[in-house]
Amino acid sequence: MDGALRREARAFVRSARALVLELGEEGVDAIDRSLAARARATGRAESAPQPAEQPAEARNAVRSTLDGVRASLGECTRCRLCEGRTQIVFGDGNPEAELMFVGEGPGEQEDLRGLPFVGRAGELLTSMIEKGLGIERREVYICNIVKCRPPANRTPLSDEVAACRPFLEGQIDAVRPRVIVALGKPATSLLLGRDVAITKLRGTWHEYHGIPLMPTFHPAFVLRQYTPENRRLVWEDLKAALTRARETGGRKPS
Ligand code: URA
Repeated sequence: MDGALRREARAFVRSARALVLELGEEGVDAIDRSLAARARATGRAESAPQPAEQPAEARNAVRSTLDGVRASLGECTRCRLCEGRTQIVFGDGNPEAELMFVGEGPGEQEDLRGLPFVGRAGELLTSMIEKGLGIERREVYICNIVKCRPPANRTPLSDEVAACRPFLEGQIDAVRPRVIVALGKPATSLLLGRDVAITKLRGTWHEYHGIPLMPTFHPAFVLRQYTPENRRLVWEDLKAALTRARETGGRKPS
């Protein structure tokens, strides 16, 4: 390896290590603090022993883990939703899922049981996954844009969504699904960074940080407007999502 490359590699390791320390110590939420502790303890970034040959591994030093994200969330009081909750509803499913579903926020049953999508809308979602797609619910990962139940199941307010956003981002970063299915307008708008009309966008491909994203109707909407047409549209969106996830040939995004 020539000298310039070696110097560049060293500089990269130094900056990766500094980033781990800085993010972990300044309380950035979506970082596994244990990585910061390890970086501090060893004086180098996790997974970056051969940085010149494998700079991508050094970048992985700041990749989230679900446990790390959950630990950062703690017994959250960052927004008013903490006041009405029974418990935090973090997420459910396979940490290595190919498909990730993002909904809006826990409802009554979810708040009581501590799991996303276990009420009526959840039963519909589960049946679409299991009977429709033919895969088990525990194979996918399911979470929401806010982790605490909004009062009377109202749509989460923008400051509540903003307070919870780093945790959703951390979950996506940890799972690195092949495809994200955004359920309804609030999840789709948040992930695409703009206000969307779900009736226009559903069924069309988008991206979240390089991950293919398929917007579809929220199951609660489908329950309210339980028409064959709406069920068919969601079914088509989910089939397209699973097909795309499987097309990537067993490779998860790095
Ligand atoms: N609706 C959601 O958006 N999320 C849940 O977990 C349940 C209902």
